[in-house]
Amino acid sequence: MGLLEGKTGLVVGVANKRSIAWGIAQALAAAGMRLHFTYQGERLKESVEALAATLPEARVHPCDVTADAEIAAVCRALAEDGGALDTLVHSVAFAHKEDLEAGFVTTSREGFRVALDVSAYSLVALTRAALPLLERSGQGSVIAMTYYGSEKVAGNYNVMGVAKAGLESAVRYLAADLGPRGVRVNAISAGPVNTLAARGIRGFTAMLHHHAERAPLRRNVELREIGDAALFLASPMASAVTGQVLFVDCGYSIMAL
Ligand code: NAP
Repeated sequence: MGLLEGKTGLVVGVANKRSIAWGIAQALAAAGMRLHFTYQGERLKESVEALAATLPEARVHPCDVTADAEIAAVCRALAEDGGALDTLVHSVAFAHKEDLEAGFVTTSREGFRVALDVSAYSLVALTRAALPLLERSGQGSVIAMTYYGSEKVAGNYNVMGVAKAGLESAVRYLAADLGPRGVRVNAISAGPVNTLAARGIRGFTAMLHHHAERAPLRRNVELREIGDAALFLASPMASAVTGQVLFVDCGYSIMAL
């Protein structure tokens, strides 16, 4: 019997098989969790449907996380499907390319708004909409994805670092709000992984090499390892863990010189 047998999860942020969300989905599904996925726009529909089809009884829904009506529609579908949600995985981020390339000081008002809306506010919007379902679970768990560029300046991460700082703070405020209602909220701070979103960061390959050289474990994190950390946070083994940022970065973040 898997650790998450009989449980239901919603995974937001699969683009393709390299996505961190897909690594997490595989770990949750292997532990017995039944999954719902979302995709943004027709462009990703086929690829997400094809991946979901490899898992038992997975379902797929459209959802742009900036559209409250689409978030509400996903939650309605989940309510009709069974009514309880045990795990919500938020693995979504976006910033305009120009805001990841020019100096941070040039970030436009609109670029700042978009990055914070998609990458940080969406966690609040999704969690609020899913709250009745998470409460029904009795042990609901929300997991968001973040990066160390929230705390320290990482070249070319720019407005995304500010968005991740907002996201991590939102994790703590949500955890404080929702703890009394039996819902835990945490983030995983992953080391760099070669994904579609990551390739939007100029110099990302150099960043991968730098992390692997500097990290105590002398390598980069694998998708499977991020999935395992999410499995822990989703499971009863983490029943007293909330409001935390769990680093899964081969130890990179402990290094000074
Ligand atoms: P990814 O595969 O490109 O996933 C990012 C996902 O966000 C994509 O599915 C993307 O869809 C989705 N997204 C963007 N805007 C959206 C919107 N308005 N509505 C719904 N979905 C939207 O890249 P990833 O690296 O796995 O990123 C997942 C998370 O991990 C992000 O929060 C990222 O910041 C975080 N993270 C990544 C790394 C890394 O090195 N890769 C390290 C630490 C943390 P579209 O393709 O349609 O935009």
